[in-house]
Amino acid sequence: MRVKIQTIKRLVYGGLGLGGVYYTAVFLDNRQHILAKEKILSKPLPAYLPPRDELHKALQTEEFDVLVIGGGATGCGVALDAVSRVIGCVATECGVALDAVSRVIGCVATECGVALDAVSRVIGCVATECGVALDAVSRGLKTGLVEKFDYSSGTSSRSTKLIHGGVRYLQKAVFGLDYEQYRMVKEALKERANLIQIAPHLAYPFPIMLPVYKWWQVPYYWAGIKMYDLVAGRENLKSSYYLSKSKALELFPMLKTEKLVGALVYYDGQHDDARMCLALALTAVKMGGKLTNHTECIEILKQDDGTGIPKVCGAKVRDIQTGKVFDIKAKCVINATGPYTDSIRQMGDPDVKYICQPSSGVHIVLPDYYSPESMGLLDPSTSDGRIIFFLPWQKVTIAGTTDNPCAVTDFPQPTEKEIQFILNEVRNYLHPDVEVRRGDVLSAWSGMRPLVADPNKSDTQSIARNHIIEVFKDNLITIAGGKWTTYRHMAEETIDKAVEVCNLQPKSNCQTAGLLLDGAHGWSPTMFIRLVQDFGLENEVAQHLANTYGDKAFKVAKLANLTGQRWPVVGKRLHQEFPYIEAEVRYACREYATSAIDVIGRRTRLAFCNVQAAEESLPRIIEMMSEELGWNKARQQEEMEKVKRFLRREMGLDIKRASESQVPINFSKDEINMYVKRFNSLDSDNKGYITINDLRRYFKKIGEKVTEDQLHEILNEVDLNRNAQVEMGEFLQLMSALKSGVLTNNRLAKASELPDEDRIPVERSGGGV
Ligand SMILES: Cc1cc2nc3c(=O)[nH]c(=O)nc-3n(C[C@H](O)[C@H](O)[C@H](O)COP(=O)(O)OP(=O)(O)OC[C@H]3O[C@@H](n4cnc5c(N)ncnc54)[C@H](O)[C@@H]3O)c2cc1C
Repeated sequence: MRVKIQTIKRLVYGGLGLGGVYYTAVFLDNRQHILAKEKILSKPLPAYLPPRDELHKALQTEEFDVLVIGGGATGCGVALDAVSRVIGCVATECGVALDAVSRVIGCVATECGVALDAVSRVIGCVATECGVALDAVSRGLKTGLVEKFDYSSGTSSRSTKLIHGGVRYLQKAVFGLDYEQYRMVKEALKERANLIQIAPHLAYPFPIMLPVYKWWQVPYYWAGIKMYDLVAGRENLKSSYYLSKSKALELFPMLKTEKLVGALVYYDGQHDDARMCLALALTAVKMGGKLTNHTECIEILKQDDGTGIPKVCGAKVRDIQTGKVFDIKAKCVINATGPYTDSIRQMGDPDVKYICQPSSGVHIVLPDYYSPESMGLLDPSTSDGRIIFFLPWQKVTIAGTTDNPCAVTDFPQPTEKEIQFILNEVRNYLHPDVEVRRGDVLSAWSGMRPLVADPNKSDTQSIARNHIIEVFKDNLITIAGGKWTTYRHMAEETIDKAVEVCNLQPKSNCQTAGLLLDGAHGWSPTMFIRLVQDFGLENEVAQHLANTYGDKAFKVAKLANLTGQRWPVVGKRLHQEFPYIEAEVRYACREYATSAIDVIGRRTRLAFCNVQAAEESLPRIIEMMSEELGWNKARQQEEMEKVKRFLRREMGLDIKRASESQVPINFSKDEINMYVKRFNSLDSDNKGYITINDLRRYFKKIGEKVTEDQLHEILNEVDLNRNAQVEMGEFLQLMSALKSGVLTNNRLAKASELPDEDRIPVERSGGGV
């Protein structure tokens, strides 16, 4: 009897609890997506972007309040925070002046019939003076930043692209009654809303589905996501909801139907992480910061301040482009180097104890048909207890991620084991009709999470994802850990600490909450239509430009050449499968892209989306960058080799080749005969191998136009031992890899198909890695 009463009591309390959550959730449902609009700091930024040389000159000659090392999300966030602690004083006046002046110029110019282009040039001049004035007048914090590769080239371009509070941390907070975890989630949710607000062209609310395969999980997950909405409070993006099985399948038809009972959908944000980081850097530069990429900190400089303990007074840096070494003087040096944290700390003191335990996270990229266009998927409990995301992004599907302790390296590489782990997890929740094949992996990359280590624990999952700010006895300030979503909050705390420790005199407190980033000021959700109508760009291209460059998309469109076709009028694509256009390469050079990897990896996301498409676009990218940056033949060759190494090592091309060569050749006698016949059809003079000449002859015969570069690519895809010829063994290996699904869609295999034979029934994904 007592047991029965207790059970009833539990049910009643449980029901009341769920009811409470439900009614609060309904209350939130009825609220609009409220953002603190009144806080938006939307004064226009100066249009002028100083060239790299000018920034370098300033770094060598001026003395800075703050010098930031590292140009990832954290470093750029810190630089922007420091440089913007002036709003409300000089910057606002300057911004207003600029606005007013530019309006007048606009009127005069219109009256005089001066072209829009000329007007913008005039505005550029005014902005220059304004920028200089902004510098000259005593202002907030004079800020410099050095990044050894490109902005975001470290972890910040290799994330899952989510702007999130962390549903699973909330689960930990609730079940572990852990207030610290709760506070972290709350803070991240606030930052999530802020990021979407300050860069609405780059970040957007994004629905994620949680498929449910057991009835009892429905109320459990439902309460969880409603709690997530509740904790977000005023900053909730959109309300989460439950879907019946049929509705879930309607929205996500690729889902495994067996045992599916329904699904829950909740919202987080999604963004292009590399562009977001660049937007932070550009905003800081436009506000007077002297930020530069491809410049490495090689030594921390110190001087005695009379206390007996030498204090940090700047850094020795090397310009990677020219090899020039110079000193930068600064009152305060901030180490924001993510996974490299300890290497900079060791420059200050070789005996310092490590605080960062990097953990590698691999993502694989699959074709777009693996997921619906605008719905992600989350598996909260993978076979080994980890979480797996499966998200549409930039016309592909990203799946990941893994979490393994790793050593710090400039070239993080995915491993075949990690790729296979993700593929297996993906198989678990996709319909059997969707055959998940190794050959469909279009790209694979690894990022290093800069986790702050607890020396007493070895497993990386228990290390807190929040950040630490360390002030060393020599005043070197280190900001480490955290996540992309919380970069702004981390930056705010860091600069507050710098002000306190280094006795800096900012003009104002932190101003970055609500501070619009470069590109956001004139952006609207329908801006792309003007790009289509005014320039004659394809709809898809216009949307991509608007949602990448924001109001700067017009500048990119102006650089676009005529296509020579009736439609689109301008905007030649870099690769037919993606909406990136050639003009973006030229524009990237004006936004400090100095190597072809910058363009192929971060200014466009080609390498991340499809490594083979990236390789195919490479010759044209290098040709255009050479025109912009004056590269000679030797430099072009060097760039070509560097990018190819990057694609092979960091984007998964190498392991693709290794995995193909490991497929056992297991053919029947008939199959062997068929493949020998195919091989001989290309090797028409019976040399025993296929050369570039054989391919050239073959394509000429069938009347297909293939460039020399393409011929080499086709051969290289199969030529495993790199001797410029394909032997029978390599050919059989290729056929075996195709048969097993490790490889899809190979051009040499297609060329060898005889007209009358049965074709392999694979019209595959467009080639994978
Ligand atoms: C797989 C994975 C998925 C993730 N997904 C998400 C997600 O979805 N959402 C989220 O919020 N967070 C996510 N994160 C976390 C987030 O990406 C990181 O926390 C964030 O990018 C770290 O930024 P950072 O600036 O600290 O480090 P980094 O981006 O690595 O930047 C450090 C920079 O310092 C530079 N540097 C190093 N040494 C020097 C030197 N001597 N001189 C000059 N420069 C130097 C490096 O070149 C590098 O660019 C993810 C992380 C990983 C690994």
